Amino acid sequence: MLVTYVRSSSYNNYAFCQMQYFITYVLGHQSDSGKKADMGTMAHKVMEILAGLKKFQQDNSRKKYLVVEDDAAGKIRIHKDSLYTDDFVDELCNIAIDCYAKNSKHKFGPKDRRDISETVWTFLRHSDGQFDPRLRNIHHPEPHFDIPIEEDWAKFEYEINGEKVEGQLAIKGTIDLVTKLNDDTIEVIDWKTGRRMDWATGEVKDYEKLENDAQLLLYFYAISKLYPEYPNRIMSIFFYKDKDGDPDPRPFSLMFDKSDEARFLEMLRIRVEEIRQNNSPKLLDPTRNHWKCKYLCHFCKNNWEGTDEKMCIYIEKHLKEHGMEKTLEECTRPGFNIGFYEAPG
Ligand code: SF4
Repeated sequence: MLVTYVRSSSYNNYAFCQMQYFITYVLGHQSDSGKKADMGTMAHKVMEILAGLKKFQQDNSRKKYLVVEDDAAGKIRIHKDSLYTDDFVDELCNIAIDCYAKNSKHKFGPKDRRDISETVWTFLRHSDGQFDPRLRNIHHPEPHFDIPIEEDWAKFEYEINGEKVEGQLAIKGTIDLVTKLNDDTIEVIDWKTGRRMDWATGEVKDYEKLENDAQLLLYFYAISKLYPEYPNRIMSIFFYKDKDGDPDPRPFSLMFDKSDEARFLEMLRIRVEEIRQNNSPKLLDPTRNHWKCKYLCHFCKNNWEGTDEKMCIYIEKHLKEHGMEKTLEECTRPGFNIGFYEAPG
């Protein structure tokens, strides 16, 4: 399979189901987001805007009005005294819900609104406000990263539809929040609104698991490149729910060091080489009767356009009959381009 970048979501998705990974990240077909995922996005948006307003206040201490231009919620402008009021947080929850609800295929009733607000307030109030972005020194609200891996094994060269694509494998993603604790130390916070479990293995995430968690290591590697001036980097991951989906707020904080950078690169190399050599992605369940196929997978619930075959079955057959190259040529989502072109030299 082609692989030009790795996201924390794609890394884990390959372990969940190789076919789902192939259809999503190689052929570029997106899944409709579930209602719970949309609710998580709404809660994240509130946290992001609060951090953005706090950052504005830090950078403009004399200004009476705080402003954030948000890609989804639009312009938010408030008097600085409002930032710390409960009313503003409640209003912001409604703004975040409305801005995503209008483009969502799901309906969000009063109970959903209460759940989202409850999630936000839990993050804000936990441990006397220790994780409230308004009470933190914000270094960067929601930084995006796109970092090439400067290793020989990370070079790639493919031919896609007669066009040569070459470059350096990159890791990409978004970090929820970076806060500054002192001149040597930053803390990265990642809000998790889903269950505290590994969906591929069903295991509960605890400290032991998190120390080897690919997403945390990927984030750690990214922040070591983005913020090399801070020798101490704390990674905190704040889970709202337990493995069964019941509220059980628990933050976990970890420190990684230089040796973990090498550990991450080795994990990444092994995974990337496995993906590259894989031209026949395995199915989570060849019968598609597993509940994860039936209830969680877009490619089981939806047919390939113009056919009465599930997307997963259609692609499996296409690969068997025509091989990888033809499948890439004929089944990639129009407009999707897996590779970015870098001019030689
Ligand atoms: S239906 Fe099942 S096997 Fe097919 S892509 Fe989805 S999870 Fe994988």
